[in-house]
Amino acid sequence: MANHEVENKMEKLISLAKRRGFVFQGSEIYGGLSGVWDLGPLGSILNENIKKYWTKKFVEDREEMYKISASILMPEKVWEASGHTESFTDPLVEDVETKKRYRADHVLEDAGVETFNMSIEEMGEKIDELELKSPDGNALGKPKVFNLLMETYLGAVDGSKDKAYLRGEITQGVQVNFKNVLDSMRPKLPFGIGQIGKAFRNEIVPGQFLFRVREFEQMELQYYIAPTKEEGERWYEFWKAFSMEWYKGLGIKEENLRFRQHEKDEMAHYAKEAWDIEYKTPFGWKEAWGIHHRGDWDLRRHQEYSGTSMQYIDGEGNKITPHIIETSGGLGRAMLFTLLDNYVEDEVDGNIRTVLALPRHLAPVTVAVFPLLKNKPELVEKAREVFTALKKEFGNVMFDDNGNIGKRYRRQDEIGTPYCVTVDFDSLEGNDVTVRNRDTAEQERVKIEDLISKLS
Ligand code: ATP
Repeated sequence: MANHEVENKMEKLISLAKRRGFVFQGSEIYGGLSGVWDLGPLGSILNENIKKYWTKKFVEDREEMYKISASILMPEKVWEASGHTESFTDPLVEDVETKKRYRADHVLEDAGVETFNMSIEEMGEKIDELELKSPDGNALGKPKVFNLLMETYLGAVDGSKDKAYLRGEITQGVQVNFKNVLDSMRPKLPFGIGQIGKAFRNEIVPGQFLFRVREFEQMELQYYIAPTKEEGERWYEFWKAFSMEWYKGLGIKEENLRFRQHEKDEMAHYAKEAWDIEYKTPFGWKEAWGIHHRGDWDLRRHQEYSGTSMQYIDGEGNKITPHIIETSGGLGRAMLFTLLDNYVEDEVDGNIRTVLALPRHLAPVTVAVFPLLKNKPELVEKAREVFTALKKEFGNVMFDDNGNIGKRYRRQDEIGTPYCVTVDFDSLEGNDVTVRNRDTAEQERVKIEDLISKLS
């Protein structure tokens, strides 16, 4: 894809997202906050629909699953145990003139240098050797290690405040509750604990719209298994394939998704095995989702740091520390990739139209109802009746009487509404309406009494 097309697609999407109430810049009237976005009315519904889809597939459809909702604030000790205070870092370089900050690995990768095996010192040497400059053309300083965790302080009195962190990943909220779930639910291995919630990372360079932000939601399953090689391999393969199927269910084309295995040096400090699902964005293949074999790292470390036993007692009374397969993805990235992949410009009746070809289970508005003319009370009344009945059944239904029908169709296409229903003069006599399909633009006459079953 040529560069201007790349910018075009992202720009068009960002503009549509704002214009139609999907995503707004955080605190925009104060100039915006970098790496922070707010969800508008339609974005909130899309976000909820993605969460519902995740919860259904990963938790509700299966017998061995539990879902929890842990707190965002966690004490420092948790992050020492999990290894994040030490290892949750990115290499940072500063433009010596402007003081703007960049990821040293990204600066090198942009210059075609592979950085997987590099220490921070080696990155500095390579930047010097290649005389790499900042995007503003200035020299770069020595790379430094930068921790992504966001700190905060709890308590009323200065000086005696306790340091805490906004969680950098939602995983630890599950791990610290492992014992509570064991004691309260008495699950048998293998079993899973799922969670959806916010995470915070002080990203050095947020960017690409929802792709890299400082506050985001994650959807994660921690799957606890017997600590054997066979169980590890079996469940790793299972969750890897399952996660890919789930991602395709966002309506994303198969050719735009792939697996990529992490190089040894790229793996997180806890990982025994790690693969990403990547999506082909207009700015290259990028991580969408991660499937990690975490081994016994989390439970062992929390047992050590908290002094609480994290062991599971099996049927024979043996105490074991389960292993964990994690499948984890960002909600904002899922939304961005869903929007990008389903953004289509096609031609209908000689006009270019923009369509979000969202799958029905994700579309923020399931069906829109129009009276043909807004100044004919009998049409409006009938359309209102149809609207009320459909709203009761489907929830997210929109009423629109503004402008000509063609324009109303375009507005619904642009937000991904699968069906539009028009009430016209024939409806008054025949008790039927026109149902128009977003994807084919075909229209069909349907009796009002059959409408709900037809749309279901
Ligand atoms: P990246 O390499 O892109 O920084 P990561 O490997 O650090 O991501 P994980 O720690 O595996 O990411 O987090 C799991 C998921 O959370 C990622 O696959 C991604 O979907 C999402 N995620 C991580 N960081 C961000 C971010 N800054 N903004 C939005 N989503 C994110």
